[in-house]
Amino acid sequence: MKTKFIFITGGVLSSLGKGLAAASIGALLQTRGLKVTIQKLDPYINVDPGTMNPFQHGEVYVTEDGAETDLDLGHYERFLGIHMSQSSNYTSGKIYETVINKERRGDYLGGTVQVIPHITDEIKRCVLSVAKDDEDVALIEIGGTVGDIEGLPFLEAIRQLKNDLGKENVLYIHLTLVPYMRAAGELKTKPTQHSVKELRSIGIQPDIILCRSEVPLPADLRDKIALFCDVDRDAVFSAVDVKSIYEVPMEFYREGVDQKIAILLKLPAKNAELDSWKELNRRINNPKGRCRIGIVGKYVDLKEAYKSLHEALIHGAVFNEVSVELEYVNSEEITPKNVEKRLKNLDGILVPGGFGSRGIEGKITSIKYARENKVPFFGICLGMQCAVIEYARNVLGLDKANSQEFDEFTPDPVIYLMTEWYDFRTKKVEKRDGASNKGGTMRLGSYPCKIVKETKAMEAYGESKIEERHRHRYEFNKKYAEALHKAGLVLSGTSPDEELVEMVELPGHPWFLGCQFHPEFKSNPMRPHPLFREFIRAATLQAKGR
Ligand code: GLN
Repeated sequence: MKTKFIFITGGVLSSLGKGLAAASIGALLQTRGLKVTIQKLDPYINVDPGTMNPFQHGEVYVTEDGAETDLDLGHYERFLGIHMSQSSNYTSGKIYETVINKERRGDYLGGTVQVIPHITDEIKRCVLSVAKDDEDVALIEIGGTVGDIEGLPFLEAIRQLKNDLGKENVLYIHLTLVPYMRAAGELKTKPTQHSVKELRSIGIQPDIILCRSEVPLPADLRDKIALFCDVDRDAVFSAVDVKSIYEVPMEFYREGVDQKIAILLKLPAKNAELDSWKELNRRINNPKGRCRIGIVGKYVDLKEAYKSLHEALIHGAVFNEVSVELEYVNSEEITPKNVEKRLKNLDGILVPGGFGSRGIEGKITSIKYARENKVPFFGICLGMQCAVIEYARNVLGLDKANSQEFDEFTPDPVIYLMTEWYDFRTKKVEKRDGASNKGGTMRLGSYPCKIVKETKAMEAYGESKIEERHRHRYEFNKKYAEALHKAGLVLSGTSPDEELVEMVELPGHPWFLGCQFHPEFKSNPMRPHPLFREFIRAATLQAKGR
């Protein structure tokens, strides 16, 4: 195998931006003409993040093939422009599940099953499986922080890989924090020294140290870290805080991170070609206008829960050369009485995806406001479902219309649980367990959608056959299609067999569109998603008209 492996670990504390660092290094290596792949290993016990609470863990990122993964994979796709898959994210839970299933099958022939070698071998198998396509480089990010008990088998596995693959094929990068002590006016290297000591006690000597800090590291501190941590002097890099995450690859380039990696791994790399990143940052830094978008949702206190959405809105703004101000509005606080006061300063209203009945009425009230006051509206997944409920109640006059998710016995289930449907991905009829509301029954991953001519959807995409990613249980109930259509709701996107409604919109409104899928997962700074592009365009016009 010609693929070289770069392992990225983190020290001192979490939230240092290891995922972004990994994604930026990957993007930078790509600009040098290298083929790059990337993977995340998460030490927690959940088999996948699908069941984890977004309040705690942030967004669940969905891949083309329907894996529910860590939100760092979103950064990877956005920075590298490559598709992640089931094999891009492994957790301890998933690794143990495989090993325990093998044990139950008798694969270990009665032997004692242990962390070393059985768990570590399975981890190594997963790591090596990521390089399928003759990639030049595979970046492997280890979640958590060095010193965590659950991270040990992963660190042991990547330690072993240096011997397995040969030291010329493996590189360890350690990301740490160099805190700035304001009172003393000093940067402190001690936490970094301790973190590297911890890593070395497990047998891993980092080759490169990336130091997150508020201000750039002066030369003498780099020397000190090099000395105490036993790395080359030119392998200690400053990762200073930047305004936009899209500056990170350029910042790393200025520091020479890619150059050092190329030298240490003897990569056949040409000079970095950074034009598209420069152009992206030029646009971000020189907006010609602005607009203000309200995100009416439930997870407003944890922005990480809407990570991809946030980025997709920025991509749309970058395309339109405007800046976008995002206001998170707690839908539980919206009532018919205060809706105007709360939303009147917004140029666009977005109702994102979500689960459960909390805050639903506030979302529906906000959508009514957007529809009646001709404020650009974008409903995503649950947001589209709420738009359909709102239309059925307030325009069709079915005042008890609802989704079966919120009212199992509603007389008008305009959004319902389909128990049988043809799955265009698996190419067979899938059955959903109508009684269960947990796990296993979601429509997940990429599905085809057919777009109707002369609609806003068509205007945005410019083609009639598209594919988008899903993550939901409930669907638009076709029984109500004709009545809603007659009342003015345009069903602008459907599954190829027209059984599932994937997009709805309103003519005679500046921009009012709902989609059953999650377009935010496919948006990229270099290729903003068409729906976000058009939504921001409409919101910018709205802002100008004020
Ligand atoms: N809760 C809704 C469903 O399961 C919507 C899900 C979502 O917005 N991702 O269908």
